[in-house]
Amino acid sequence: MCEAGVILETLHHAADDAGLRFPLSLGGKGSATVGGLVATNAGGTQVLRHGSMRALVLGLEAVLPDGSVFDALTPLKKDNRGFDLKQLLIGSEGTLGIVTAATLKLEPAVAARSVVWAGLESIAAARELLLHCQAAEGDALEGFEVMPDHCLANVLRFLPDARAPLTGPHAWHALIELDTGATDADGLAARAEAMLTGAFEAGLIEDAAIAQNEAQAEAFWQLREMIAPAERAAGPAVQHDVSVPLASVPDFVDEAVPAVEAAFPHTRAVAFGHLGDGNVHFHVIAPPGVGGPAWQEGEGKAISRFVHDLVAKWRGSISAEHGIGQLKRDELRRLGDPVALALMGKVKAALDPLGIMNPGKLL
Ligand code: ZN
Repeated sequence: MCEAGVILETLHHAADDAGLRFPLSLGGKGSATVGGLVATNAGGTQVLRHGSMRALVLGLEAVLPDGSVFDALTPLKKDNRGFDLKQLLIGSEGTLGIVTAATLKLEPAVAARSVVWAGLESIAAARELLLHCQAAEGDALEGFEVMPDHCLANVLRFLPDARAPLTGPHAWHALIELDTGATDADGLAARAEAMLTGAFEAGLIEDAAIAQNEAQAEAFWQLREMIAPAERAAGPAVQHDVSVPLASVPDFVDEAVPAVEAAFPHTRAVAFGHLGDGNVHFHVIAPPGVGGPAWQEGEGKAISRFVHDLVAKWRGSISAEHGIGQLKRDELRRLGDPVALALMGKVKAALDPLGIMNPGKLL
């Protein structure tokens, strides 16, 4: 059990001290609280294997708008007493109540990991590679991230001491992590190698490198984690956090990137992130020399509507892991299923008739 004010990084250390781990992390781990992670159903790079907060919260306590305390902290694997009210509160962005504590799912500590960087000819090949890795390693597959070549190039410009993991140019890159517990730690490196050999033979990858030590593994991950800071340093952009059905990700990206760049001349669209979750962060960088609030409010908003329309066409979500908040509230209203929106409105009105919980957000 964990109180809502605990910082994610503190939780990681506490689990670590007990020989366990909490398998969710994100860039803001030094300031993100458990209550906030629950309220926003936070995700990250380990959702592929462990799920988002929804899968990691086993029990929950919250203060409701009328002042009553909803106590469902006891973790019950089976419980069929009606509605799952815990899940109703998770991801509700504080609009239905305030999460005060949670019982969280911990996993055994990782005994060994193998981090791989692969160069690919297309995002379609990345999707095939993901299926290959899942078939070969199944439950050991902890993360599968992708980025286009110009995205990696921007990170390398931002980090002058960093090195490209592979020598040649590749249109797309995949960062793959396999993790295992103590019982089969010794064989993991050989398994990673066999997985890659199979991928080469199937023509799925152009080149690949396996991190030879922990420092190199961290260096590979740093290239992924520095995408957003490197982009911010390069100039203004509008950001979208979207998901489409897993099998549609390559077709969506291959359609959306050129479509955005054609509709908004001199912009540059970048799709990167959690291929294994069908979730890409779709950023559109302002034309050179353009930017600032005027651009964000004008062309920036038009770009967002354009991107979200494409997402809707592919039957996806305009918020995969970042939530709705204030920023996407109007877009949710514009594109959301009217039945679902009405249902959310009714739940909100029933639980919070005075509208005192986080007003102006989500709904
Ligand atoms: Zn993300």
